[in-house]
Amino acid sequence: MNTSSHNLTTLRRADREITDRATIEAILRRAEVGRLGLAVDNAPYVVPLNYVYHNGAIYFHSAHEGRKIVMLKANPQVCFEVDEHYGTVRSNKPMSHSTHYASVVVFGQAQILADLQQKCEILQALLDKYAPGRHYRALRIDEANNVTVVEIRIKAMTGKTRAPFYPGDKVRLRLNGEPDVRLGAGVFEVEMVDEAGLVHLNNRNVCLPWERFESYFGPGDGD
Ligand SMILES: Cc1cc2nc3c(=O)[nH]c(=O)nc-3n(C[C@H](O)[C@H](O)[C@H](O)COP(=O)(O)OP(=O)(O)OC[C@H]3O[C@@H](n4cnc5c(N)ncnc54)[C@H](O)[C@@H]3O)c2cc1C
Repeated sequence: MNTSSHNLTTLRRADREITDRATIEAILRRAEVGRLGLAVDNAPYVVPLNYVYHNGAIYFHSAHEGRKIVMLKANPQVCFEVDEHYGTVRSNKPMSHSTHYASVVVFGQAQILADLQQKCEILQALLDKYAPGRHYRALRIDEANNVTVVEIRIKAMTGKTRAPFYPGDKVRLRLNGEPDVRLGAGVFEVEMVDEAGLVHLNNRNVCLPWERFESYFGPGDGD
């Protein structure tokens, strides 16, 4: 791909783009691990981190030294990725298995926070995310001296998701899964998948979790 002529935030699969900002922000709030991408000269580096999405920016804490700190000082233009992996959607065709996920890619500018009060606020936000209710005293401001806190100001971000099934898809109960006496064997058409991940079927008064189904493409290859 010629990166100079390509719009880097245009998804090739526009049907999978998450366009709703509130949905993107909800993923950023929920996800547990983010991956920080850095590049200096000809050396890319990706490192997994805990983080918090707070007041419209990404924050993480770190030791004062180390490769990521050296690199982000040399080039503060960074990329940050988070995702939720819901599982694998199995199929009866070898090339049609799929993954159910939601992910966000952020492009931004990193800076090391100097203000102790602000560092404390971010460390508290990290505690509230990862260890809610575990601390009987607030952080002391001097404790913020022990770590580096990095802010990533977001310049652009994109969200992408792959639902397990889309309306009109043909599905059947997973071959190695439990039978369902109400549905029995057969091929069914998906009406929709709701927010709880339940698959509603056309002309059937039964809905089951998406994990119970696999894609069906008709007799033939892999059937
Ligand atoms: C789920 C998760 C959450 C984490 N949360 C945090 C966090 O909130 N803050 C934080 O500072 N760190 C966190 N870490 C650790 C983080 O991934 C880095 O190891 C750490 O930040 C040190 O990075 P560095 O670039 O300073 O490492 P350095 O020790 O300077 O890196 C030197 C080399 O070590 C190797 N290396 C570094 N980290 C890793 C790694 N994770 N896995 C394999 N090889 C590695 C690389 O080859 C790198 O080039 C987390 C790790 C995981 C898996």
